[in-house]
Amino acid sequence: MSLPASQTDRGRLEVICGCMFAGKTAHLIARLLEARAAGFAVLAFKHALDIRYSPAALATHDHRRFEALPVRDVATIRAKAAGVRVVGIDEGQFFGEEIVTLCRDLRAAGKRVIVAGIDFNAWGCPFEPMPRLKEIAERVDVCCMPCTACGRPARYTQRIVPVESDDMVGGPGEYEPRCERCFVPLPGFPRNEPDGRA
Ligand SMILES: [Zn+2]
Repeated sequence: MSLPASQTDRGRLEVICGCMFAGKTAHLIARLLEARAAGFAVLAFKHALDIRYSPAALATHDHRRFEALPVRDVATIRAKAAGVRVVGIDEGQFFGEEIVTLCRDLRAAGKRVIVAGIDFNAWGCPFEPMPRLKEIAERVDVCCMPCTACGRPARYTQRIVPVESDDMVGGPGEYEPRCERCFVPLPGFPRNEPDGRA
């Protein structure tokens, strides 16, 4: 007996990665708007840590927006995403290892999952769990900005002010894009915390 194309066949994972300020959130917003315009039920999530530009929306440094639920854990995404076909998650690096299983499960349930996130931390180390999401994704896009120092394509996020607390979330004035040649890693070992902050 042949079954019609099942929900499962349509599931896919897309990853949008790169350094800070590389336009990742703008790409995510564009894909979510396109999916909604095509008639799909879409829901977007952001980490509650990241309320720099708007507490209830994905927002870019240049003010583009898509409404998003601020959440602290993967379980909340799992519960809320049950009824939609397309799931967007911004700042995926903040959600820790559990987001890998979540993405696999949502994909297996036939959903299109799009995760944006930074893939190298300020120490120049892979910003887990983004590398693992890249490994299992059907599509990976790497966003680059010109290096602030020399103009070459930048993959790294340079911390340009001293670290004075555990809160590494920041924006313009605290970080800038740098190429591999101009990037100076923070000294010491990355602080990888249980919720994925580094
Ligand atoms: Zn450079």
